[in-house]
Amino acid sequence: MSRLVMKFGGTSVADLERIRRVGRLVAEEVATGKQVCVVVSAMSGKTNELVAWTDQAGAAAQGLAASDDEYDVVVASGEQVTAGLLAMVLRNMGIDARSFAGWQVPIIGDDSHGKARIVDIPPANLDAALEAGQVAVIAGFQGVTEGGRIVTLGRGGSDTSAVAIAAAIGGQCDIYTDVDGVYTTDPRIEEKARKLSRVSYEEMLEMASQGAKVLQTRSVELAMAHRVPVRVLSSFIEPDAPEDVRAANGTLVCDEEEIMEKRIVSGVAYSRDEAKISLFGLPDHPGVSSKIFGPLADAGLNVDMIVQSHARTEGAANMEFTVGKRDAARAQQIMQGLKAEIGFEDIAVDDNVAKVSVIGVGMRSHAGVAKAMFSALAEKGVNIQVISTSEIKISVLIDSAYTELAVRALHAAFELDTL
Ligand code: ASP
Ligand code: MG
Repeated sequence: MSRLVMKFGGTSVADLERIRRVGRLVAEEVATGKQVCVVVSAMSGKTNELVAWTDQAGAAAQGLAASDDEYDVVVASGEQVTAGLLAMVLRNMGIDARSFAGWQVPIIGDDSHGKARIVDIPPANLDAALEAGQVAVIAGFQGVTEGGRIVTLGRGGSDTSAVAIAAAIGGQCDIYTDVDGVYTTDPRIEEKARKLSRVSYEEMLEMASQGAKVLQTRSVELAMAHRVPVRVLSSFIEPDAPEDVRAANGTLVCDEEEIMEKRIVSGVAYSRDEAKISLFGLPDHPGVSSKIFGPLADAGLNVDMIVQSHARTEGAANMEFTVGKRDAARAQQIMQGLKAEIGFEDIAVDDNVAKVSVIGVGMRSHAGVAKAMFSALAEKGVNIQVISTSEIKISVLIDSAYTELAVRALHAAFELDTL
């Protein structure tokens, strides 16, 4: 019997009316004879409210906030409410359903509070519920450590819960959200953005990590590693909508081989969550980079783009790198503390920057993508501060005031509106 995990994000369960609509979508799948697990987020806005409470309770003041084990106890609670409510709604519709908190599944996580990784999901309890014909409604975002403490999986973590459960029970994963799929770029910036009917795991991973908010990055990593077929689709299309409207709903995230029509560039992503740190007047000798990036890594800070250049003066260099906006102050503090040891002259932090990326598996076999990208930006007068590339992606750091302009220019340059 085929198995399906359906995941519903915060806007899809924002109130009881929407939870009933979710109930109808679940009932439809149950009626086709599938064994169904449902993973739910907290009602939209709930997690932010809970996070604010933990700040007020003093965790932030102690510098603990998201790494405190009690933070997880508080912020995990939103998902438990929606799991219970959806199970009740399903029962009222005559469907046998029960809720599962993370610890009841169990979803076992490591003990990095606030951003735990899933270590294991023993499937026995879910198997038993499914074989007994029950719908298992599971609280997303949360798990339990080996030591029995509640952990959460990082913001947006319900996507990861859903994909991990699909991998554990052997099924497909449908991620229901408030948009009908993955777009060539953010439709709020470029109205000509087109929905992709399919996107490869690799491209989706780059899109998510380069700023597209539709799926949590870790969920894509997991889907790719376990080859879980993932569909992203809208929960706002009613089960009784016309057949063609329903058929057009969704993007399938799948293996590259399953995509017939390959394009050089599939999407343009952007992120304003960046800050650039520049170190001037560094000594130019072996070991300097490790003195800079070692301590940042030890502090758990993620460095993204890096450029080093030679300064005019003999034996001196400059280094620029980017971190998440939230980490900029920390990174600056760490660098200041090591000023003498590293031996730089000056430091500057700029958080008026944005990263814009073009992504596509077709780049592997096509030269000239960088050239097309840089000339499209030059034509619009957009100055490039830092460049980084991978096999299937080119990213540039620019002044954040030009974000929309750059996204639109690139979307047009790679003819994504005519997909
Ligand atoms: N409720 C959590 C959050 O807002 C997890 C999720 O929705 O995926 O981050
Ligand atoms: Mg989400």
